[in-house]
Amino acid sequence: MSTPEPPFDLLVRGGLLVVPGGPAGVTVVEGDVAVRDGRIVGVGDLPHRSAGRVLDATDSVVMPGLVNSHMHECLERGIFEDLPFTRWLQEFALPKDRAYEPRHQRAAALLNQLEMIRGGTTTFIDIFRHPDQAAEVAVSSGLRAVISPQVIDRPPGPGETLEANLDFVQRWQDRCPRVRPWFGPHALYSCDEETFAVMSEEAARRGLGMHTHLAESGAETAEIVERTGLRPAAYLDRLIGPGHPVLVAHGVHLDAADIDLVAARRWAVAHCPTSNMKLGNGTAPVPEMIAAGVTVGLGTDSVMTNNDLDMFEEMRLAALVQKLRLGDAEVMPVGQVIGLATTASAAAVGLGGITGSLREGAAADLIVVGLDQPHMWPVQRGELSNVAEHMVYSAHASDVRSTVVAGRILMEDRVVATIDAAEVRDLVARETADLLIKAGILRG
Ligand SMILES: [Zn+2]
Repeated sequence: MSTPEPPFDLLVRGGLLVVPGGPAGVTVVEGDVAVRDGRIVGVGDLPHRSAGRVLDATDSVVMPGLVNSHMHECLERGIFEDLPFTRWLQEFALPKDRAYEPRHQRAAALLNQLEMIRGGTTTFIDIFRHPDQAAEVAVSSGLRAVISPQVIDRPPGPGETLEANLDFVQRWQDRCPRVRPWFGPHALYSCDEETFAVMSEEAARRGLGMHTHLAESGAETAEIVERTGLRPAAYLDRLIGPGHPVLVAHGVHLDAADIDLVAARRWAVAHCPTSNMKLGNGTAPVPEMIAAGVTVGLGTDSVMTNNDLDMFEEMRLAALVQKLRLGDAEVMPVGQVIGLATTASAAAVGLGGITGSLREGAAADLIVVGLDQPHMWPVQRGELSNVAEHMVYSAHASDVRSTVVAGRILMEDRVVATIDAAEVRDLVARETADLLIKAGILRG
């Protein structure tokens, strides 16, 4: 007598599965996703078996949770708008960052993680201050996170030191399998050479990655060239060694030789089209990077420069901005763009094969996206399926109905289970006012 198969922990039933991979970059099949012990154990037409929980995905898309490969969890949304980049950074962003206390960071993490769960982001990498607060909120929110504490040597900010990053890594390296520490030197223009060198050695020794900003603006690129005689990518290459993942945000001002270097070193790039447009920094050469073999993920950057954390919007803009830049409607097709926000972003944050896919053995990080609103109609099935197209060109964060990470339901039918939204709304109002007063920007 054969032993009966154990029941599933979770069955996501009857959805249109948008599966990254294959020659078109994405495949759409109808069926179920079965989960056991936090992992996907079946995809497609599954034999009938009992399940502890069932999520109904009828008339909905089921796809891998989106992976945000560059963001800073912060509070200041809609404040200090429409300023030139260097002025915005020097006069507002950096001084205000220095007023941040752990209490502000906790509020920011709750706000950002609530928005991500609601918008279908299941994994994010954060580069900001007071990383313990961000990491602790991730432990309780249920999201998958890589936390790369922001280190700035010039001008120094409280807690943003190499030593603080090393201490954080020590505390968090084996603390929670869902929340991983990385190294976060802010940028070539704000960190000492020694900081990059030490972090690179430590990252290689501990099997961790490094996340920094690179070639974001023209002014930054010119400053590096003038100071060092090297373009930013070559200068970074001189400062760090091999043997660990490197994720560089933006890469707007990379020329052909820079792209070859990034590809040769196997650095990943986080493309942030909204932030690049909003700050007037330009358009990253994404199709050229992909053609050269660079792993390009997709990120929102912070709510200061976006202003939301809607990865659907980011997918749409990633496609549109390249079609505009190159005058070519064929570039950045749907399958490729979905790959950027899922498998490629996962690889960029060191979680390739672990999250960002809908295949057996991967973590059960998935989302159910409703097709019940008029902007998603008509829904075509079969040969003329248009639902993958809808995910790039029509969907919004608010279309996400349910969010699952490691098999745990964080949101079901638009109700978030792990963070109290009403509490966060009040907390964020209070803490933002307190932060702006302490930064000397708002009078108390
Ligand atoms: Zn950034």
